[in-house]
Parts: sequence; C-alpha cells; structure tokens
Amino acid sequence: MKSFEYARPTTEAEAVAFLGAEGIQTAILAGGTDLTSLLRAELLTPARVVDLKQIPSLRTITPLDDGIQIGALCTLDELAQSPQLGHYRSLFDVIDGIRAIQVQGCGTLGGDLCHLPNCWYFRKGYGILGMEQGVSLPESGDNRYHAILGNSGPAKFVNASRFAPALIAWGAKVRIIGLGAASGAGLSNGPAVVDAEWVPLEYFYSTPQTDRQGHTILRPGQMISHVWLPESPLMSSATYEVLQMEGLDWPLAAAGVCLQLEGGLVRDARIVMGHVAPVPWLIDDAARVLIGQPLNEETAATAAAFAVAQSTPLSMNAYKVQIACTAVKRALLKAAGQLT
Ligand SMILES: Cc1cc2nc3c(=O)[nH]c(=O)nc-3n(C[C@H](O)[C@H](O)[C@H](O)COP(=O)(O)OP(=O)(O)OC[C@H]3O[C@@H](n4cnc5c(N)ncnc54)[C@H](O)[C@@H]3O)c2cc1C
Repeated sequence: MKSFEYARPTTEAEAVAFLGAEGIQTAILAGGTDLTSLLRAELLTPARVVDLKQIPSLRTITPLDDGIQIGALCTLDELAQSPQLGHYRSLFDVIDGIRAIQVQGCGTLGGDLCHLPNCWYFRKGYGILGMEQGVSLPESGDNRYHAILGNSGPAKFVNASRFAPALIAWGAKVRIIGLGAASGAGLSNGPAVVDAEWVPLEYFYSTPQTDRQGHTILRPGQMISHVWLPESPLMSSATYEVLQMEGLDWPLAAAGVCLQLEGGLVRDARIVMGHVAPVPWLIDDAARVLIGQPLNEETAATAAAFAVAQSTPLSMNAYKVQIACTAVKRALLKAAGQLT
C-alpha cells in the first residue's frame, strides 16, 4: 500500500475542504470494507484519504413531510433497525441478502452506492474497462459475470450497488456536495453550508467510454452526503436478488420494484434491474405493460420478458438473461404479496 495523508473531518464543510484541495488526489473512506482492499492492491493511490466517520450529520435518518432523508454514513445495521424505514420493504430485502454481520455492521449506504465494479479485470489492475493494449479483456476472456445490457461500448462490467435498484424504483435522490455542486441545496433541517445539489439516483450513474471516466457523475472533490426517499404510502416494494452462494456473495442479477395496486389492478409500477449492466437498468417498457392489469404469474412473466428483451449477452453469460427475467418476475410477485 502506498502511504497517504489521513484526514478526519467532523463537518461536511471540512470534508469538502479536504476533498477539494487543489492538486491533491483524494479518496473517501466510509466503512472501509472495500476501500481498504482497493488501497492495499494499489488500485487507488490517493495522496489523501478523507475518513467520513466522525461527521454526525452523515449518520442521521430524518423523517420529512415529503419523505425521509438518510445520511450516507448510515450502516446497514442502522438502516435495518430504523423504524422510520419500515415502509420501504425493498431496502430490507437487500440488507437480508448481505449475509455477513461484519459487512452489515461496517458497510454504509454511501459506500454501497459508490462501490467500484467487482469486475475481475478491473480488480487485477486493467482499469475500469479491463483493457490490455487496446483489447477488451471482458469481451475476449471470461465474462460470465459481466453485463448483458448496455454493453455495446467498451464498458462490460456490472454496477455493483445492491441498494441502487430498490432506491431508483422508489424515485430516490442523492445529495451531492463539494466542488462544483452548484445550487447550494441545504438539508431539510439546516441552511446550505457547502455547495450541494440533489440529483435523481437514476441519473447518478454513468457508463464510462474511456479509462479516465468514472462509473458515476461524481467529480473529484465531490461526495454523497444524503439520500432522499419520497413518501409514497400507496406503493409496495420488493427486491429479489439471485445469489449463487448462501454466504456473502454478489448477485448474478437482481430487481428492485415498486408497485401501486388499486382495486386489484396495477396503477403504477417502477422496475429496475441490478448487476446486468454498467448502470442500474430502469425498464419503463416492462412497467408500462403492467398498467391496468392484475398482477399475477402471467402478467409478471410478460413484464419480465419485456425487461430482458433487449439483452445482448457476451460469449459466456447468456445464462444471466433467464436469471434476470426470473428476478424481475419474482420481485413483482413479492411486492404484490404473492411470493412467500
Ligand atoms: C472481504 C469483503 C467481501 C465483501 N463481499 C461482498 C459481497 O460479496 N457482497 C456485498 O454486497 N458486499 C460485499 N462486501 C461489502 C461491500 O464492501 C459493501 O458494498 C459495503 O456497503 C461498502 O460500504 P463501505 O462503507 O464499507 O464502503 P467503503 O469501502 O468505505 O467505500 C466504497 C467506495 O465508495 C466510496 N464512498 C464511500 N462513501 C462515499 C460517499 N459518501 N460519497 C462518495 N463516495 C463514497 C469509497 O471511496 C469507495 O470507493 C464485502 C466486503 C469485504 C470486506
């Protein structure tokens, strides 16, 4: 591991000042469950690591008139134990699926949302696109866990976040703070003290076209401070993840859904697939076919088939198409209370 300067801010303003210092490459430390591996493997070699753990405002869960605001530093345990989050079932499905008490105790919401890809070529030092001398290693090599959608460009990895599908289905926004976050959006309970803006989570991720681009829209000097979830009392939700192992594992495919049923018919639906593309994959077409229909095995299967209809699997991962399809179908049935 290369040596680095260690900063431990106690306010968001201090964190932003440490992150934004000119000419210094920085990295953000939250729970550290992934960052420490990245530093050890020298996949990241920052001159300064900014540890967020002493910033109390990042650890709050605040009910609002129009929803709920969650600090990025909340751990999975803190989320699981929060009575205010009781309505957002799909988040609990995610936490249940992360079967390691160490990660539940240390891993944070912000760390999950910003988790760098697990692509083994990236993790072996070939960059976010997994390129060697201009050749895409995921394209020509072992791509069994790679993308089946959104993979026509050089990025073949899958987005690693487990919360993003559920949160995007809920219509969540993230508060980005730091250099260049323009509008100065304050928190519900305080004035703006740092540059900040709220961005719908569905626009937070990006598909890099070159090795110099990231997998999110965060620029150097920026971080997530909070997540906002809308109050939607009529919506029910679920996440369904397909995991290979009983213990700690990454999903092969997942789906987060939100449903509004009225008189037995679907009035509104949002479906987002995870671990199938470089970004969480929102599928409006699949949701549209459900509107006005009863939610049952047949309609859920039709929507699921729509969800994966545009898949373009790589040489070794066609099996993921059926798995993603099943994840969507089961998430829909689960949200409707038809899957036990
Ligand atoms: C050995 C091991 C195996 C694991 N295996 C799995 C697994 O199989 N499945 C699974 O789901 N999880 C796994 N995890 C947990 C995984 O690391 C989680 O995703 C965890 O939620 C990350 O949270 P963290 O707070 O520890 O993130 P950190 O490691 O602190 O950060 C992760 C990334 O996000 C960035 N970051 C963190 N917070 C912010 C923020 N607020 N704003 C901007 N960027 C930020 C960091 O700079 C870093 O790049 C594993 C962890 C370990 C140690």
